[in-house]
Amino acid sequence: MLRVSSIKTICKTGFALAKPLIVNAVELLRRPGTTKDIDVSISVDDFEFADARMVDVPVDISVHLESLSTGIHVAGTASATWSGVCRRCLAPLVERMSVDLDEMYQKGTYDPDAYEIENDQINLLPMVREGLLLAVPLSPLCRDDCPGFCPHCGADLADTRCNCETSAPDPRWSALENLKGVFPDDAP
Ligand SMILES: [Zn+2]
Ligand SMILES: [Zn+2]
Repeated sequence: MLRVSSIKTICKTGFALAKPLIVNAVELLRRPGTTKDIDVSISVDDFEFADARMVDVPVDISVHLESLSTGIHVAGTASATWSGVCRRCLAPLVERMSVDLDEMYQKGTYDPDAYEIENDQINLLPMVREGLLLAVPLSPLCRDDCPGFCPHCGADLADTRCNCETSAPDPRWSALENLKGVFPDDAP
């Protein structure tokens, strides 16, 4: 399950570790109730996103692992920076996003949604990678009420007021508008 929120913060300087997202799960698997907290910053390169929207700023990961009888529950957040353009006014955007992570890891997965514990190790990287890629907005906006460009003259309506006729619908057509959807478009 993913919940996405956009936050604009400057990320702290990251440090790289060898395979920092592979967690030894032997202790966790031995006793249900055992917990482990992980807080790391990882280079974007380590994720091999192959996605031009991911900006080269370290990814922050903060997760809490808890051993349950059914597997190991991993919950926390991952933050990364993406870039794009506003879909209405084409302004360049760079934003820090934070994704909530909430996943199960299982040995010999019996829940199809769970990640697998292999060789008593938990690899958090695919989970974080997937969560972040799903969270990058496909058609971002610089702000919710971005007015974009005038469809007639192309003026940027955020800082210009053009004199184009705003297309108020002709009242004579409103009766027809009301019939929209009443008849199938492709009646035989
Ligand atoms: Zn915009
Ligand atoms: Zn205009």
